Amino acid sequence: MDELQDLYQEMIVDHNRHPRNFGKLPEASHVLQGNNPLCGDQLTLYLRIAAEQVQDARFDGEGCAISVASASLMTDAVKGKSIPAAQRLFEQFHQLVSSGEGRDPLDLGKLSALAGVRAYPSRVKCATLCWHTLRAALAGEVKPVSTE
Ligand code: ZN
Repeated sequence: MDELQDLYQEMIVDHNRHPRNFGKLPEASHVLQGNNPLCGDQLTLYLRIAAEQVQDARFDGEGCAISVASASLMTDAVKGKSIPAAQRLFEQFHQLVSSGEGRDPLDLGKLSALAGVRAYPSRVKCATLCWHTLRAALAGEVKPVSTE
């Protein structure tokens, strides 16, 4: 696990130990599962969308520290966002974790804590699982999302 040490920033450790927005959302309008078979991460994303806005976002499930921290940070980040703004954030986050060498990562505030996964392709899927699930849920998809 040594190679992952630089990924385990304080922010990630904290959000893994104390995930924000963890648990079911009874009044959810959108519920979608996401799976990352490569690592074994499984999550269910709950969204309450009204008036073209993400009113609330929660998640539950089991996964590695990166996947849990990413879902915790993501649900915090998209709450209160319009649907286009949430979709834009998906694009920006995707760019953050997949930018090529020598390119400065975007500054996405707390989400930038996950920029380190760029160096570990298998970990990119852990970090983006919740985001792919979000994008599919916003698009009205109901089939579980898989990173494979
Ligand atoms: Zn994982």
